[in-house]
Amino acid sequence: MLDMLRAIVQEVNTAEDLDAALSIIVRRVRDAMGTEVCSVYMRDPKSERLVLSATEGLNKSEIGKASLEEGQGLIGQVSEREEPINLEDATSHPSFQLIPGIGEEPFSAFLGVPIIHHREVLGVLVVQQAQRRRFDESEEAFLVTMSAQLAGVVAHALVTGSVRTGQGAEAAVIRGVAGAPGIAIGRAVIVSPEADLYAVPRRKADDRKAELRAFKTALTAVRADIEQVAEQLSTELNPEDHALFDVYLRILDDATIGAEVASLIKSGEWAQGALSAVMIEHIQVFERMEQSYLRERAVDVKDLGTRVLAYLQAADKSVQTYPPATILVGEELTASVLGEVPRENLAGIISVRGSGNSHVAILARAMGVPTVMGAIDLPYTRLQDRELIIDGYNGEVHLNPSDEFRARFEDLVAEDKALSRDLEVLRDVPCETRDHKRMPLWVNTGLMADVARSLDQGAEGVGLYRTEVPFLLRERFPSEEEQRQIYRSQLEAFAPKPVTMRTLDIGGDKALPYFPIEEDNPFLGWRGIRVTLDHPEIFLVQTRAMLKASEGLGNLRIMLPMISNVAELDEALEFIHRAHRELLEEGSDIDMPPVGVMVEVPSAVYQARALARRADFLSVGSNDLTQYLLAVDRNNARVADLYHSFHPAVLKALQSVAEAGLAEETPVSICGELAGDPGAAVLLLAMGYDVLSMNATNLTRVKQAMRHVTTVDADELLADVINLESAEAVQLRLEDFLVDKGLAGFIHARLGPAE
Ligand code: PEP
Ligand code: MG
Repeated sequence: MLDMLRAIVQEVNTAEDLDAALSIIVRRVRDAMGTEVCSVYMRDPKSERLVLSATEGLNKSEIGKASLEEGQGLIGQVSEREEPINLEDATSHPSFQLIPGIGEEPFSAFLGVPIIHHREVLGVLVVQQAQRRRFDESEEAFLVTMSAQLAGVVAHALVTGSVRTGQGAEAAVIRGVAGAPGIAIGRAVIVSPEADLYAVPRRKADDRKAELRAFKTALTAVRADIEQVAEQLSTELNPEDHALFDVYLRILDDATIGAEVASLIKSGEWAQGALSAVMIEHIQVFERMEQSYLRERAVDVKDLGTRVLAYLQAADKSVQTYPPATILVGEELTASVLGEVPRENLAGIISVRGSGNSHVAILARAMGVPTVMGAIDLPYTRLQDRELIIDGYNGEVHLNPSDEFRARFEDLVAEDKALSRDLEVLRDVPCETRDHKRMPLWVNTGLMADVARSLDQGAEGVGLYRTEVPFLLRERFPSEEEQRQIYRSQLEAFAPKPVTMRTLDIGGDKALPYFPIEEDNPFLGWRGIRVTLDHPEIFLVQTRAMLKASEGLGNLRIMLPMISNVAELDEALEFIHRAHRELLEEGSDIDMPPVGVMVEVPSAVYQARALARRADFLSVGSNDLTQYLLAVDRNNARVADLYHSFHPAVLKALQSVAEAGLAEETPVSICGELAGDPGAAVLLLAMGYDVLSMNATNLTRVKQAMRHVTTVDADELLADVINLESAEAVQLRLEDFLVDKGLAGFIHARLGPAE
């Protein structure tokens, strides 16, 4: 059963578009279940009708014509109730409604299951049989499993279809997760990791003959490699094992795969794209084989394809260019890729993986680049050079928008620009409430580019300098002197304003290429302070570099990430004091900086007072605190709807940390993304936070909000909100408040479907 399910899903995966996918589904499911009819009715979002979209056993000429309303007939019932209907005699059911012309009269037995993707009914999968009988439990379970597995594939095929059809085609919207606010209109540049057959962008060949030559050369090189290895191992391997090399060489034979790739190149695809398309198809053929021996050959085909691809990529001398209005698109984008694109040409970012609080999204927010994360259904390899619209507020990517819809987006871009211009005047005015309560606004930095932007926005200090960012951009740990120089430039740029440097926070979704950490649960694993305490050589070098960098400036603050117990803080303090002592002994004249603790793990919330007694300041990392309190992976788009920093549990935790700080007379700040939300900032003011640290992009917005309220307004808002029972209720209350205060411009309404 499992093999059959897998084989069908894989075959459907190879389909070129939705129609092809649906025909494979109905044919294969009918055969697998031995029924007379299998059909799919897809829900048309415009008419909201369920349309017969593929069938084996009914009248095919009715495909695309026969349809039912939601709730109408048995098909409509399956869709509306979102559950299977299994009947011995469909015609005697009160909801039965014959669709004239499709030829279902002879069939009594009926089993229909909904196809649901991300809570949305995409269609209904039905099997029918003439014999009066109820489908048994295992058949029902099979169809439900089939449908659940196919839902994602069908959703993908839907989008792939709209990508293919190109100019003048129907508008399509791909939902992801909001990454960084803003609207961008630009052209896609695909970034793919090296030697990955599945990530090769599709594009037209500039010169078919040259592509063909490159492919032949790569094939010859791989063939020579294999022959050489076979030769070297000839005395050590037995004849059967040795025969494997012959299999390899035969797969590469021009008459088979090679010829298919060549013919695709001749039809206009570039060599890498042609190789990837053909190899993936063959890999899937092998993966579908019944015999396990043959199935395993898929690995060999993949290995061969990857080798040829590596040669092709090595020979490809073309340098990736990033034209103006580039929209960077990739499976999993990293900080280093962002760094490669000239800022003035980077209009937007789409990452297929990751979520709104992944670190790439945070960097994108700092850079002010509209971003959509977790666009799982986006067939990104087919988007090279395509015009795309990114809605970073709602996490949506638009393809083929109508002229009218595009014009609405252009208006929004203009409105955003106007709002930023209006806010510019605020950069030099203090952040204070109408009744003159000051609230220092600091920034979160990481890239050097953040420095100028932050100063430009009127930042009063740095509340979080993510030191791991320069580590991520290198190929080895930076030396003490290299680090000292990097830190010195941050400290100098802001002096005499304070700069809070966080010690290395790697692990989770931040892996250093040269220090890989492989774990099943990286966010619950070896992360932040846990790594650095286990590696004093890394920790001491970093703290020495920070301290040295601060010589003569005195504006350094050190902050420790992921502290989950008091012992970690004590140990870290010991190391920092040791580094300081050593430097004094070496003759430096450096003040011991304040050392603070990030409160970003629930245990630290409950121990906030004990931590506050030992530390010079507390700073809440609300990004991780939300993730750990709500048990929602901040990087997983599938659960992004559950990740909400306005969740009442998070707000209560924030309040209790502020109270702990107050009780111990230890200043409390916040440096998570929440601080940059104008409504949340008002709540944090009322809770008693001493400093808000945020992305430079949000600084003037928060300042504007503060300048429109009084401390009494803020206290009343907090008193209202703190007893609400859901994040949605909190969100609505905050939005009402902003509207009330004349700040409606900070709320971004959904635009609705791209009609
Ligand atoms: C946080 O967790 O809120 C935080 C500021 O740190 P980071 O986002 O880098 O994990
Ligand atoms: Mg954190």
